[in-house]
Amino acid sequence: MTRQRYRGRFAPSPTGALHFGSLVAAVGSWLVARRAGGEWLVRIEDIDPPREVPGSAAAILSALDAFGLPPDQPPVYQSLRGGLYEAAFERLRRDGHVFPCWCSRADLAAHGGIHRDGHCVAPADPSRPPAWRLRAPDLTIRWQDDLQGPQEENLREVAGDFVIRRVEGLWSYQLACVVDDGEQGVTHVVRGADLLESTARQIHLQCLLGLPRPGYLHLPLVLDAEGRKLSKSTAAQPVDPADPLPALRRALGRLGVDVAAEAADPASLLREALNEFEPAALRRSSLTTTPTL
Ligand code: GLU
Repeated sequence: MTRQRYRGRFAPSPTGALHFGSLVAAVGSWLVARRAGGEWLVRIEDIDPPREVPGSAAAILSALDAFGLPPDQPPVYQSLRGGLYEAAFERLRRDGHVFPCWCSRADLAAHGGIHRDGHCVAPADPSRPPAWRLRAPDLTIRWQDDLQGPQEENLREVAGDFVIRRVEGLWSYQLACVVDDGEQGVTHVVRGADLLESTARQIHLQCLLGLPRPGYLHLPLVLDAEGRKLSKSTAAQPVDPADPLPALRRALGRLGVDVAAEAADPASLLREALNEFEPAALRRSSLTTTPTL
């Protein structure tokens, strides 16, 4: 039997410039992929125009370049891949896994905030388009996270019937991510721990769509001085692509790699880091959640 070559990816949403938390996810997924002798791809998750900041996809890509992290293949853009999501959606619809939903926030609130009925609880309203939800069975999904250990989640309890196509016709992150990881042959997903709770939904979608399940590793989140998650939406400071070495050293430190040697440029710092990187160091660094900004 041939073993599939490791293929990892970094999948930023273009909702702002690359910030320190995203840099840690990019470097972490790159290190694990390279350590496994594998490839590393970049996918721009631009399926949410209302949240998109114009120019940020290009800014993120050029920042990755400046940090010595060019992808092994040209980046793909989810905004250009609607046909793939449509085909997956049609398959789910044909197989009876989705239903149209006209519920308002108030309808949902009356049902405890989570939709668990397997069908819409509001009357159908042909005058406006519905959202489409995936029926969540009473199923406990178990998986092994390479850093966080064994995980389990009951789909119906935790996620409920989740939206895969929004009222505006936009595809949900869950559907697009699963379709793309499958289509791009991604064998391992390394990303921030804020997405740990999406994993059960994604595994379920993979099963329904006949896609292989990748390995998962969720990196500890980078917190700010007040212990809050650093994210683009909390306007975390972008990293400076014109002066990449200090932020790159800090990101490597977060991942348990302290490179003592001087480095002339990001690519040589990353080469040094790869020599010193062991996944076990990641485990140790994950225990240190103190802010390092
Ligand atoms: N686009 C998502 C984000 O920027 C990450 C998706 C993923 O890695 O699965 O938060």
